[in-house]
Amino acid sequence: MGLMHCPKCRKNLVQQSPRHGWIEALLSIFCIYPFRCQLCTHRFLAFQWWWDRFVSYYGRREYVRIPVRFQLTFSGQQVSGEGTVVNLSRLGCTIETPTPIPHGELLRLRILKSDGQPLFEIEAAAVRFVMDKAIGVEFVRIQEREMERLARAIVNLYTGRHI
Ligand SMILES: [Zn+2]
Repeated sequence: MGLMHCPKCRKNLVQQSPRHGWIEALLSIFCIYPFRCQLCTHRFLAFQWWWDRFVSYYGRREYVRIPVRFQLTFSGQQVSGEGTVVNLSRLGCTIETPTPIPHGELLRLRILKSDGQPLFEIEAAAVRFVMDKAIGVEFVRIQEREMERLARAIVNLYTGRHI
């Protein structure tokens, strides 16, 4: 990580992607692997020496969820409340909240910075799993401006910059 750049958006937030099909399985013999850009979602094949792979392999999840600690407020059709975002990716996040959330609920999310100012807003997030006091949501609708703010937050998290 940190060396390879996405051929589309030129950012270096790239993670290895699970292989699909026999062609990609065959290509891996020649050190060619699929990668997924964490920002623009572009998927591409690239050459990578096995030792690079050994160093940068972060697991099979395509969009790596970065551990975070952001307060948020949410509101849906049946519930509203507050919680903490405990991990974040380009496509979704995990939220801890004492409020019981029905499965399949669509939530509007407002993620806040530590000073209480808005960090970004998700117009619609679908609840994908409910586990004890944690729920996993997938971002299904987001305004373009908010998407840019989310992308900037992810870049800052990757590079260790303060948010
Ligand atoms: Zn990209």
